[in-house]
Amino acid sequence: MPAKLSIEPRLLLGPGPSPVHERILEALARPTLGHLDPQFLRIMDEVSEGLRKAFGTRNRMTFPISGTGSAGMEAALANVVEPGDRVIIGVNGVFGGRLVEMAKRMGAEVVAVEAEWGSIVPPERLLEALRAHPDTRVLAVVHAETSTGVRQPLDEIGAAVSRTDTLLLVDAVTSLGGLPVEVDKIGIDVCYSGTQKCLGVPPGLAPITFSARAMDRIATRRAPCQSWYLDVNLIAAYLGEERRYHHTAPINMVYALHEGLTMVEEDGLEARWRRHAEVGAALQAAMVERGFQLFAQEGYRLPQLTSASLPGGREEGPLRKALLEQHGIEVGGGLGPAKGKIWRVGLMGSGATHQVVERLLKAIDALIPRS
Ligand SMILES: *Cc1c(COP(=O)(O)O)cnc(C)c1O
Repeated sequence: MPAKLSIEPRLLLGPGPSPVHERILEALARPTLGHLDPQFLRIMDEVSEGLRKAFGTRNRMTFPISGTGSAGMEAALANVVEPGDRVIIGVNGVFGGRLVEMAKRMGAEVVAVEAEWGSIVPPERLLEALRAHPDTRVLAVVHAETSTGVRQPLDEIGAAVSRTDTLLLVDAVTSLGGLPVEVDKIGIDVCYSGTQKCLGVPPGLAPITFSARAMDRIATRRAPCQSWYLDVNLIAAYLGEERRYHHTAPINMVYALHEGLTMVEEDGLEARWRRHAEVGAALQAAMVERGFQLFAQEGYRLPQLTSASLPGGREEGPLRKALLEQHGIEVGGGLGPAKGKIWRVGLMGSGATHQVVERLLKAIDALIPRS
């Protein structure tokens, strides 16, 4: 084993992780505390408060799950779904598909409402499914489908679902901190995210929030949550007055998230949304000008994740490799039906700046001469 870890830095412009600011790396390197140390408990409380602001919620049960975005997904489903429950899931990409897979493993009766990759799941089709299955316990959608670059509209779904006994579950892994995620305003019951996308923190934590309605549902479960580790009732006993040991919080990652949320607050949420919107629009215009073809449905394109096929039908793989090796820039390739066909370019967190766009375009122009 070499004496020292040697890492060539990259400019991370893929679907995540996003670039991590020095301030956050410094926070990670602070002295590790015990998870019951009053200093740490205060930091944890501040993180919950910062997450409430970012999620646009007053939900008491708001905290970071120990694990990446997929652990947030698993925690969201495992707590509100029981075997035999009907769950409607919008599927227009990888992450909708992952929700289906997890819900099925939990014994749910899944109704998948599918739409083409690159399109939204039309809200009226989800609501039709809900009318056809009024016993549905949970309706789940992905707000920002990172596999395609599509932004799912939520307002109409939120308004309709809140009038029923069905809970609305939303994947906000790629939207939190980059797009408005207004949990209380929309009427979302369970919403989870990940630290390594628009929050600009390394991967490792999954912010999550549960509405009072969701907590009532959890309180009346027929059997305890099948996952002991992700059981929100057990975690609540640690986060609440009792401070009862459940599992050891990933202390230094919580420092990093604290610093990331401080940076969100300094930016101001709205200014941060605007920055992501402007920079994403600028990149998309510049890519179209260079002959790239945008993959996501017009009018529903995520600014923080641009998916596009390459100019003149060029193969994406070798150019993506050259971008990494010659220019130190990472972008993502396509998944599923878009495999081998598109690039996925993320401008998230501290990667969402005009300087970053310029650096990327310069590298693209060096690799693909403009005709
Ligand atoms: C990245 C992502 C996830 C999964 O997060 P991991 O941190 O990779 O576990 C889930 N949903 C969406 C929409 C994502 O973009």
